[in-house]
Amino acid sequence: MGAGAAGITAGHALSEKGIDFEILEASSVHGGRVKKTDGFADFPIDLGAEWVHRSIKAKAPTTQALLSGQSPGFRIFNYRPKTILQYKNGKLRSKGWMKLLLALVNDGKFADSTWFDFIDQLVTPEIKKKIHYSTPVIKIEHSSNEIVATSASGEQFRADKVLITVPIKMLQDEYIEFAPALPDWKKKAINKEQFGDGLKVFIEFSEKFYPDVVEIGSAIRNPLESDDSYYDATVGKNSSKNILALFAHGLTATKYTSLKTDKALLDFILKELDEVFDGQATKYYKKHIIQNWSKEPFIGGSYSMRKGSVKELSAPLNNKIYFAGEAMNPSGKTIAVHGACESAYLAVSEMLTNKDRR
Ligand SMILES: Cc1cc2nc3c(=O)[nH]c(=O)nc-3n(C[C@H](O)[C@H](O)[C@H](O)COP(=O)(O)OP(=O)(O)OC[C@H]3O[C@@H](n4cnc5c(N)ncnc54)[C@H](O)[C@@H]3O)c2cc1C
Repeated sequence: MGAGAAGITAGHALSEKGIDFEILEASSVHGGRVKKTDGFADFPIDLGAEWVHRSIKAKAPTTQALLSGQSPGFRIFNYRPKTILQYKNGKLRSKGWMKLLLALVNDGKFADSTWFDFIDQLVTPEIKKKIHYSTPVIKIEHSSNEIVATSASGEQFRADKVLITVPIKMLQDEYIEFAPALPDWKKKAINKEQFGDGLKVFIEFSEKFYPDVVEIGSAIRNPLESDDSYYDATVGKNSSKNILALFAHGLTATKYTSLKTDKALLDFILKELDEVFDGQATKYYKKHIIQNWSKEPFIGGSYSMRKGSVKELSAPLNNKIYFAGEAMNPSGKTIAVHGACESAYLAVSEMLTNKDRR
């Protein structure tokens, strides 16, 4: 269930082993939280995952070459913004030490492609034929040997085993009914995890009046729980445009994601930037694009905050129902795309060995 990075990777791994499968995807597209737009700027823009977090040492066979910069067709550069400022209590201050931190973290970025392009290459014509789009699963019956998954339109799919890779928010909201119900320990683990709010907004301006990064508010925060910064999306890209992006996740994102309309959100952002940059945002504004992940159907937020037990979250049930995806990597390499991919390999390998971990 789910054709995001984890579901697609699982399909890839199963097809390599010659095992029959179908992928049930709720939306009309694959990719989930990897998503791109080609039309907004003169380079492709990642509307979801953007950075290659090399410090998260997940090892999926499909992403290893990419992480070491050896993936044919995908050029990764080291993300090293030069000017980093913080806006707090009405003042802009330099945050030079952040450069050191970023060098230590050693994030990369795609030079002229995106995370979506990378994951999309795994969707070969054979795998695409296996994806049932616009098929949200609402019920999983697993009392007999055969598992029956029912979609919102009433279509039924039968399988020996299922792998669930939907965002954890969908399980927290009980969008999928399990019959029999999930055991208490599993429900507890699911509900203990916290799934942050999140959005990205890209704005084109006719002039560059901003630094490479400007963080709003306090620098002392746990980046797993909140993040709130504007960054020059053209850093390291071949672009003649001025594109400033907002990325907000977790506790600080709600002030943006909770606004009722896109107009209210744009007004809020321009006001915030005008305050920092002396009215220049409104003066030089050209156009924008919003990706509000909190309001995205079948996603409902950004990513987990590592509050739950990954061992319990990812533990299979009765050798029949398996779990993988961003929040469900038993090695703890959660949050990142390549962590989601690794979790799919781990789940597929567990499916094939039939060993119950608990
Ligand atoms: C704003 C943002 C920024 C991020 N930045 C980065 C970054 O820079 N680097 C990085 O590595 N990671 C980043 N991430 C995290 C990364 O995007 C995720 O870890 C990864 O893409 C998750 O993949 P997944 O397959 O586990 O889940 P998803 O991509 O969420 O896929 C789950 C799929 O399940 C489908 N689905 C949901 N409910 C059902 C149902 N009932 N039936 C069938 N299908 C269903 C959904 O439609 C979706 O396609 C970011 C995420 C966000 C939102």
